[in-house]
Amino acid sequence: MTNQAPIVIVGTGLSGYSLVREFRKLDKDTPIVMVTADDGVSYSKPMLSTGFTKDKDAQGLAQADTEAMAEQLGVEVRTYTTVTGIDTGKHELILGDERLGYSNLVLAWGADVIRLGLAGNGLDRVYSINDLLDYRAFRKALEGGKRVAIMGAGLIGCEFANDLRNGGYEVDVIAPDATVMPSLLPEPAAEAVRHELTELGVRFHLGTVVEQVDEDGDGVRLTLGNGETLQADLVISAVGLRPRTELAKAAGLDTGRGIQVNRALETSAEDVYALGDCAEVDGQVLLYVLPLMACARALAKTLTGERTEVRYGTMPIMVKTPCCPTAVCPPPVGAEGNWQIEQEASDVKALFKSPAGETLGFAVTGRFAVEKQALAREVPPLHQ
Ligand code: FAD
Repeated sequence: MTNQAPIVIVGTGLSGYSLVREFRKLDKDTPIVMVTADDGVSYSKPMLSTGFTKDKDAQGLAQADTEAMAEQLGVEVRTYTTVTGIDTGKHELILGDERLGYSNLVLAWGADVIRLGLAGNGLDRVYSINDLLDYRAFRKALEGGKRVAIMGAGLIGCEFANDLRNGGYEVDVIAPDATVMPSLLPEPAAEAVRHELTELGVRFHLGTVVEQVDEDGDGVRLTLGNGETLQADLVISAVGLRPRTELAKAAGLDTGRGIQVNRALETSAEDVYALGDCAEVDGQVLLYVLPLMACARALAKTLTGERTEVRYGTMPIMVKTPCCPTAVCPPPVGAEGNWQIEQEASDVKALFKSPAGETLGFAVTGRFAVEKQALAREVPPLHQ
């Protein structure tokens, strides 16, 4: 290992930049090099699904350019630089023909969008939005358009549906399940969100999938599994994300659904750590901001020499569907218990109760959404 080598962080998303911010609170001097495949602009990814509501385009959502971040954080940022491999034995990152030595390496390289194998000749009008550059391309392509079809009714699909309606667009949502956000919300809460989005003008086509996207004039024609056809100017694919594991796996790191790390964010390779959307932390893949912030705080300490395990508190998720304010704190996977529902129209308070009567999770919509903080205090933290 080369002791003089810098700490190298791959990724300038919320994980990479949050980690450096936390680290610089503790250590102003250790050299850090950040490597990113994109332009390194700092932005808050959750805001991508609020652009029309807040009247901000990609430029408006950018928080700081790369030079400003480099100066503010005292780091070198290498933009448009794609990592192609890791030589863990030599403590070197492989960047095409170049090698970059590291003392400690942090993988914060996020998740890839899942792409469906669709048929048709209109696939260049299908957009996935997983970073600011994607968002810029989408907004540019949408200029002059009026109709957007969204594949997927998960959190991201629903948020874009609400945001695009707020921007005055016609929105169709196509998804295979019987309701929205099936893996996140209990059914009555999901139905409340679906109902309010429908009232807002979103057209749902549930229980079916898009099979084919073909050119049709300036837009596209979608053919659904149920035989229905729809017209749109553009399609958003919001069918899910998969942690980026391939390069880690090729380098011999343990991987599962994500790059496997323990609670100290250590991978199976010496001096290599991972956090954020690419990481499976102690068996859990949580593609949200609160977990990555907790990881950034713990890892910053570890990198200064004080080995620290992450401790997840209670981490509610706010769903940005302003037509039906919603917050959810899913119960732990496999937890015993059942949902108790209080409901009046689209105002739903669902509490997941253990057999002993403890609240292990909740989902609240409409007027009950204001209770989220109080309920979050009742739910035990993920790490006791
Ligand atoms: P990313 O932001 O994806 O950063 C990955 C970085 O790695 C990028 O800089 C990329 O260029 C770089 N990279 C990748 N591969 C390579 C390579 N081979 N070489 C070099 N660099 C590479 N979470 C919430 O908690 N609340 C919300 O309301 C919420 N809303 C969301 C709305 C949308 C539309 C989306 C898409 C996500 C939302 N999320 C939300 C999830 C949250 O934004 C993510 O969990 C978080 O931003 C992930 O950050 P990250 O830094 O781990 O990954």
